[in-house]
Amino acid sequence: MSRHWQRGWRDGLPALFAQEWDLLVIGGGITGAGILLEASRRGLKALLVEQRDFAWGTSSRSSKLVHGGLRYLKEGRFGLTRESVREREALLRDAPGLVEPQGFAFADYKHRKPGRRSFLFGLPIYDAMAGRRERHYADADDFGMMAPNVSRDGLQGGMLYTDAKTDDARLVLRVLQEAQAHGGVAINYVAAEALLRDGGKVCGARLRDGEARYELRARLVVNATGAWADGLRGQAGAAPRLRPLRGSHLVLPAWRLPLAQAISLMHPDDGRPVFAFPWEGVTLVGTTDVDHGEDMQHEAAITQAEFDYLMKALRAQFPQQALADGDVIATYAGVRPVIDHGQADPSKEGREHAVWLDDGMLTVTGGKLTTFRVIALDVLKHAMPLLAGWRDALKPLPIFAQAAASSKRLGGDAHRRLLGRYGQYAQDLLDAAQDGEMERIPGTESLWAELRWAARAEAVLHLEDLLLRRTRLGLQLRHGGADIMPRIRSICQLELGWSGERWGTEQAAYLALWDACHSPVAPAQAGAHGAHELTSAMGSRLRGNDG
Ligand SMILES: Cc1cc2nc3c(=O)[nH]c(=O)nc-3n(C[C@H](O)[C@H](O)[C@H](O)COP(=O)(O)OP(=O)(O)OC[C@H]3O[C@@H](n4cnc5c(N)ncnc54)[C@H](O)[C@@H]3O)c2cc1C
Repeated sequence: MSRHWQRGWRDGLPALFAQEWDLLVIGGGITGAGILLEASRRGLKALLVEQRDFAWGTSSRSSKLVHGGLRYLKEGRFGLTRESVREREALLRDAPGLVEPQGFAFADYKHRKPGRRSFLFGLPIYDAMAGRRERHYADADDFGMMAPNVSRDGLQGGMLYTDAKTDDARLVLRVLQEAQAHGGVAINYVAAEALLRDGGKVCGARLRDGEARYELRARLVVNATGAWADGLRGQAGAAPRLRPLRGSHLVLPAWRLPLAQAISLMHPDDGRPVFAFPWEGVTLVGTTDVDHGEDMQHEAAITQAEFDYLMKALRAQFPQQALADGDVIATYAGVRPVIDHGQADPSKEGREHAVWLDDGMLTVTGGKLTTFRVIALDVLKHAMPLLAGWRDALKPLPIFAQAAASSKRLGGDAHRRLLGRYGQYAQDLLDAAQDGEMERIPGTESLWAELRWAARAEAVLHLEDLLLRRTRLGLQLRHGGADIMPRIRSICQLELGWSGERWGTEQAAYLALWDACHSPVAPAQAGAHGAHELTSAMGSRLRGNDG
């Protein structure tokens, strides 16, 4: 197996499935990717399968914050906050260019909670956990300079503090790349459809790759399927434990809501925290927290009620921007794998991860993007007694190896960004760039060269993989990037060998998916949102993998 996904790599899959593995990891989100990385670099022979695309699930639909979670501190969840702050610091140290600091500002209004006092109680604890002082209370004039477009009505000042942000889908890809460098194998568009048993114990899974079926045997199966985890656990005879909660986001062009800082605010209706922050050339706004209640085989999408809820928060916080529904260029929704404790208010359910053992299969679910390394090490701790002969001290290691690349054509920030995202492949990406491809794609921070590299070497099977996860153009450009399709087409046809007919099918399926799950909702469409059933065209695409 090559270290990265080169053209024709899928031809080698039957031979890989015929081998016996120490670990079969099911689920290609950040949790599965983290486990693959930690297992591979600690001497285990590990293979990961993802039923759709890497990061297709919640891990490309998060709020993209690498954060301790001030909210958890307020709820008294000190352990979760401490762990998250430490992991945030490790990611900032080991993944510059992919995980970057983000300043936050929270306006303090007369007679509105939480006031200065609550913040000045929580933030010192946050800072102490990180080992440095970042917090600062600014008076109304200074705060107004930092966040010029917030409402001035009753403004007394505001709190400033620092967290971090990332590109969640790229984080998953970087972790998978790193795992492959240690001998791990990661395969997309292969589903685990049934568990195999030996003497009542789970000993592998039946895998589905298009029309083909394979029986893969492993000493240990890890179910890292996030919000889908109850499905495989049910096959192992376990009762459901998850409460899928949907969180939705709006995307606005940066010029329509320009922000130098992330702005946190309390929603005027229910006091829930909402934020808006600058991300990759656009402004992200999130999030909601509602029971999903939809078939998990359908893609999640924002509802009209969630859209209106987020717009109301924006209009209250930034009245002078006079934001209209039409300013929103895209939306996305993800489903949190939250463990059900029966709380009436979804936001009160815990966010910690859990590891369960059922019939010899380990399931891990819950937790956060930020804490993926902690979660992976916890899974391996539970795996150790089940893998006779394997021992490891499970000390945290640097998250990524240092990478090097050079280009006279790139300035400091762009260079750092490429190294953070592509690690050891940054130089290959630069070498592959054709004339004019070191330019940014207008409205985004992505280079044309990133599209070419992703199509060539990042296991892209479908156009949606390229535009929604390898790059994020589907979230950053109006109409999902429809205006630049001719140039994308020429890259795809060359790098992926797609015929004109294949391009037509891919483009139609992508635009249909975008309309259903990523377009700004219009009132007439409201019923179509909430969850998107895979169209028959998409269903057959998933069955007919030919990449
Ligand atoms: C709205 C929202 C905002 C969030 N914001 C943040 C944030 O800002 N910061 C943060 O740290 N965390 C955040 N989180 C939490 C974080 O995103 C999740 O905890 C994390 O992404 C879960 O990763 P996962 O790998 O466990 O699940 P997923 O990413 O969902 O991966 C599970 C994968 O398993 C696959 N799968 C399912 N069944 C099978 C099968 N039978 N065979 C093969 N594959 C299968 C699915 O296709 C899916 O891709 C947020 C979550 C949500 C919903």
